[in-house]
Amino acid sequence: MTKRDYYEVLGVAKTASVDDIKKAYRKLAMQYHPDVTKEDRKVAEEKFKEVSEAYEVLADEKKRQLYDQYGHAGVNSQFQDGSFNWSDFSHQGDLRDIFGDGGLGSIFDMLFGRQQRSSGGRDMRMDLQITLEEAFRGVKRRITVPKFDKCAKCNGTGAKDGKVVSCPDCGGTGQVRMAQGRGFSQFISVMPCRRCRGTGRAPGNNCPECEGRGKIQRTSHIDVDIPAGVEPGTRLRVPGAGEAGGPGEPNGDLYVAIDVKPHNTWKREGADLYMEFPVTFAQAALGADIEIPTLDGKANVTLPSSTQSDTVFRLKGSGMPILNYSGRGDQYVKVKIKVPEKLNQEQKDLLKRFAVLEAEDRSFMGKFKKRK
Ligand SMILES: [Zn+2]
Ligand SMILES: [Zn+2]
Repeated sequence: MTKRDYYEVLGVAKTASVDDIKKAYRKLAMQYHPDVTKEDRKVAEEKFKEVSEAYEVLADEKKRQLYDQYGHAGVNSQFQDGSFNWSDFSHQGDLRDIFGDGGLGSIFDMLFGRQQRSSGGRDMRMDLQITLEEAFRGVKRRITVPKFDKCAKCNGTGAKDGKVVSCPDCGGTGQVRMAQGRGFSQFISVMPCRRCRGTGRAPGNNCPECEGRGKIQRTSHIDVDIPAGVEPGTRLRVPGAGEAGGPGEPNGDLYVAIDVKPHNTWKREGADLYMEFPVTFAQAALGADIEIPTLDGKANVTLPSSTQSDTVFRLKGSGMPILNYSGRGDQYVKVKIKVPEKLNQEQKDLLKRFAVLEAEDRSFMGKFKKRK
């Protein structure tokens, strides 16, 4: 199937602003919400996914650039599995704004594919908060989650000694016939066998550990690799780390939603970092070499003389790493001139002398200006 042009999907012009794109997405998202749409649910889900993919790309400056330059081929590498999945969607916040918390239930079901998979273990979702430093370097985290895991005793088969036989309830066909009604109105319905869940294979004897279910509830430890540059709202998929399925069924996946704690020094905006840095009046007036902290050490900056408060310096490449790119964002430093809280007598005397000189200077400038 050829993919439609993202601009066409959202019905916006190639030159559309991020705001226009957001508005278009909002409108379409409401139109295709699986609970309120007039469309067939399956169609609505596909449309909703399509507009969300287009939004994911066009609302992001870098992805949009790649798309504008190389088309779909250019952005597919930006998605975890080489094509857009809900786990790539980074605008959950926008969905919350559009639908409110109450309207999110079916969307999250969709996002995590609970309805798309008829067999196999359930997908799971975990929230994980990390620090900005951890987001900067990347971090390995061990998370503890209670879940159904494959029974180790029977290796998930549910059978004692691992012996699986033809299901005695259905004779291995996976189907059972049930007669319903009575007399002339009797009819036979065919249903999947409940014992073997339609597989036709069942444990010879039930595993005593899991009573034939093939899975056991326990506390599991899962190591999650969080890549450097991860942004808040990023969803990491750990395939197969969700709940165990029944005998012969695949495990679900685990989705870890990353949140990054606010930092006292740096504010983050995508890959760029913003900070304020205090300097003394003397440093600002005379100029000075100052050391600015960065997330991986420090940077030397030469403050020119007569630097005003709120002047912003850009430290190129001192920001956050960019996920899936080799580059880094920038760090912006806003200079704040600090008035000393305590002065000794000598400092006071000097400042008084300075004030007198400054006043003379000002009155001279005043006369000079009047004369002009
Ligand atoms: Zn059966
Ligand atoms: Zn077992």
